[in-house]
Amino acid sequence: MSRRIGRLWTIAACGPPCQFPAMPHAPGSAGFRLSRSDANFYAESGLDRVSDKRKDAAWVAARLADPASRFVPVWRSRSYVDPQEAQAILLAGEFGRAMATGEIEPVLLGVTSAVAYFAIDISHIEGGENGPALVEAAGAAFLDLRLVGSRMARHEGSLLAYARGMLTWHRRHRFCGQCGSPTKSDEGGHVRVCTDPGCRLQQFPRTDPAVIMLVTRGDACLLGSNPRFPPGMYSTLAGFVEPGETLEAAVAREVFEEAGVSVSNVRYHSSQPWPFPTSLMLGFYAEGETETLALNSEELRDAQWFRRDWIRANAGDFADATAPFRLPRGDSIARRLIDDWLAGAA
Ligand SMILES: [Zn+2]
Repeated sequence: MSRRIGRLWTIAACGPPCQFPAMPHAPGSAGFRLSRSDANFYAESGLDRVSDKRKDAAWVAARLADPASRFVPVWRSRSYVDPQEAQAILLAGEFGRAMATGEIEPVLLGVTSAVAYFAIDISHIEGGENGPALVEAAGAAFLDLRLVGSRMARHEGSLLAYARGMLTWHRRHRFCGQCGSPTKSDEGGHVRVCTDPGCRLQQFPRTDPAVIMLVTRGDACLLGSNPRFPPGMYSTLAGFVEPGETLEAAVAREVFEEAGVSVSNVRYHSSQPWPFPTSLMLGFYAEGETETLALNSEELRDAQWFRRDWIRANAGDFADATAPFRLPRGDSIARRLIDDWLAGAA
């Protein structure tokens, strides 16, 4: 697979296929810096999702056959990137289409003015530590998007996240949840339909809503470190929304369950697609009504109130594993909530 069977194609190297202006790179992991973009990471691919046209199978097939179309390969949940340049690697026309021979059909992600973008699952192709070598490019590798996403141009990171999320959903919904029959992809990959003529249940791409909240009290905010975090990392609290629950109630429940703090004045901040694997993060600020903490040791190994000035003076580089206090990665809405609060929000 490593010979001249494809050509390298990156969004950045091929002119302006996206319709929005170039955006600055993320604050990344170089110590404490404030975010400056209005949108969260993974939230602005710039594609027109063509929700009307994708119902036309002939139109989708024509886009699939179009030499101008571009393919976003995903291998076993990993995205194809050049980590040195922090760029996405996409596959061009015929070569990209030829890679999509697995059990999941190409998924139409959307279009720009003249180019259609498809996500393709190539998990059936064997590969080494860095996945299959599809193009001749030093350093090209299939990596977990979160390892490089915060350094990527926002539209590239968003495109890769969108592709990963759609293909994960397809892989997990190959059978009908109602009758157990196989399902098939339709509408460019935006619905799966049960193949049993007596059932025909439709399933649509799924996102699991999760609330994520920065609790403040005066000039301090509540940050916690859970057992899955790298050492020294402190972040906002978060949890999944349950059926029959409002977002505001989920914020209050999660904070009380994890830290024993009652909250009020719950305010929405912003949202972020987080397809790792299937979440939509809904960001909030809330005010703590009490200062005393009662930590749930299964959820948190530590949580404390941190003052603004202390965070500014002590937050270490996320990439520094020896830093005693680190904020979350720059591509996360958790970091955005904290940065905005440090800059005076809430
Ligand atoms: Zn069925």
